[in-house]
Amino acid sequence: MSKKIGFAAAIAALLALVVMCHAGGAFLQEKIIGDKEVSGKANKGTDGEVVVIDPGHGGMDGGKVGANGVEEKEVNLKISLSIKKLLEKEGIQVIMTRTDDERLADNQVGDLKARVDIMNKNNPELVVSIHQNSYHEESVRGAQVFYYGDSKEGKEAAVIIQEALKEVDTENTKEAKANNTYYILKKTKVPVVIAECGFLSNYEEAQKLADEAYQQELAAAVAKGILQYMESR
Ligand SMILES: [Zn+2]
Repeated sequence: MSKKIGFAAAIAALLALVVMCHAGGAFLQEKIIGDKEVSGKANKGTDGEVVVIDPGHGGMDGGKVGANGVEEKEVNLKISLSIKKLLEKEGIQVIMTRTDDERLADNQVGDLKARVDIMNKNNPELVVSIHQNSYHEESVRGAQVFYYGDSKEGKEAAVIIQEALKEVDTENTKEAKANNTYYILKKTKVPVVIAECGFLSNYEEAQKLADEAYQQELAAAVAKGILQYMESR
């Protein structure tokens, strides 16, 4: 008789354990799903995944003028708008310093200050400023990415974006380079790089930089580099 009671008690205890495990499992499952939802939101850019894209120059300030007459400000804006589209497809929130042919102030210092304000106040993971280069020797060519020498994040992003740009132009041997004098690199409190996508002083490269398909290729490379940098954080 007492054996039977013992047996019944054991069964009851086992049942209680099963019920508890089930409840615990459901709780755990809910927690995991809950966490997934939170990280899903982060991927949609609502949890600090902000990137600022800065198309250099604009309005009265045309920037460099190409050997073929193309204006830097125009090339910068086209590449930047394409980068914006590509990043937004990946759920990243993109803030532009300009989306039109405009200057942000009456003078160059005011314009740069206004850009730096936008960069700092939005606390982005990365700022990418898009420019085109120029040199007195026509033969010099190839994209190059600059970063502030004291910024570890800036250097990491610059190296990754430089590599991505070299895949578009396999003859380019340039490396990411530190620069502590550019206003935007100096004054921005968040990680920032300047991507000089090519030399407008080189006729052949200027022709490519004015071409929409090539602009798209450059934008895809910069966007890929930005995503890779963000994944590595
Ligand atoms: Zn420029």
